[in-house]
Amino acid sequence: MKTIVIASNNAHKAEEIATALDFPGWEFRTLRDLGLDSDPVEDADSFEGNARIKAQAARAASGGMAVLADDSGLAVDALDGAPGVYSARYAGDPCDDAANNAKLLAELAGVSDEERTGRFVCTLVFIDENGAETVAHGTVEGRIGHEERGEHGFGYDPLFLPDVFDDGRTLAEALPEEKNAVSHRGNALRQLRAKLAPSGR
Ligand code: IMP
Repeated sequence: MKTIVIASNNAHKAEEIATALDFPGWEFRTLRDLGLDSDPVEDADSFEGNARIKAQAARAASGGMAVLADDSGLAVDALDGAPGVYSARYAGDPCDDAANNAKLLAELAGVSDEERTGRFVCTLVFIDENGAETVAHGTVEGRIGHEERGEHGFGYDPLFLPDVFDDGRTLAEALPEEKNAVSHRGNALRQLRAKLAPSGR
């Protein structure tokens, strides 16, 4: 069994990754599971840059174990792509989902349904135990609702209405496996799995 360190301090993300990526022979451990401390400054201007910062920091903290880092966020068209790479701290540091959602609703006040389009974006950076890097991307298109609905998930899920749901549910009204089947993170994980499978890594 090969141990992969999930380079995230976000318990929700780590859980989604560990359940979605059932790669034969792999077991996932969070930084916390392993008693490791890694919280680098994410100051890149892209999801990929920030995922790489997290992956490299976790690799160093673990003494060279295989690591998987996720950087993700929400891009809203009517806000020129905001909150984007600032999604976690949109309403200020530290990360506060309720405050971020309240700010997003306020910024979109008066914006029509047709113009409330956007997408979740996820970039994964995997670095194996030999230092080889594999990058994968995923998105999910949707619209921003007018009020929070649902108890599942985290972050902006209660406000996000995926286009692929034809029943008007938010991502937070979907069960975890339903979210994984359509989400940016699920899509990125499937791409990562496909990229890694041929080499047998
Ligand atoms: P990161 O940990 O720096 O990548 O920040 C990601 C932020 O983007 C989170 O704190 C959420 O605000 C948002 N986000 C990323 N993925 C999701 C998701 O699956 N659902 C809801 N919000 C998400």
